[in-house]
Amino acid sequence: MSNLEFDETFDFISVGSGGGSMCSALLMRRLGKSVVVLEKTGLIGGTTSRSGGVMWIPNNRFMKEEGVEDSYEKSHDLHGGNRGPVDRCAGYDASQTQSLRY
Ligand SMILES: Cc1cc2nc3c(=O)[nH]c(=O)nc-3n(C[C@H](O)[C@H](O)[C@H](O)COP(=O)(O)OP(=O)(O)OC[C@H]3O[C@@H](n4cnc5c(N)ncnc54)[C@H](O)[C@@H]3O)c2cc1C
Repeated sequence: MSNLEFDETFDFISVGSGGGSMCSALLMRRLGKSVVVLEKTGLIGGTTSRSGGVMWIPNNRFMKEEGVEDSYEKSHDLHGGNRGPVDRCAGYDASQTQSLRY
């Protein structure tokens, strides 16, 4: 056991205040955890606050339901095709599908 003393403690520390970290902070609050969000700049929102404000999730189930044709291959082309980081594209596909389901 450490002898360190803290003024405050939290169950969850979210570093940054963009969409990713804010979503994780909200999720942890919903689970009843105490949360602090740390932002290094004087403004909250990060890149997210400058974005188009829509979720870009290629080949998602809502598009399929509406009959909109899309594919992961098309999104990979947008990410740079064969020059892009293919393993990261595959990770993006999988995690975006999960986050949309959530
Ligand atoms: C012009 C533009 C338009 C876009 N439009 C869209 C769109 O329409 N749809 C879409 O899906 N995507 C869009 N994107 C991409 C999307 O905005 C980003 O992928 C997304 O916002 C990244 O979110 P994030 O939470 O990972 O990072 P960020 O939103 O960048 O948040 C990271 C935060 O962490 C902070 N931080 C970093 N290091 C530290 C540290 N050591 N300590 C404390 N804080 C720290 C930063 O200051 C920042 O606030 C767009 C991007 C741009 C630039």
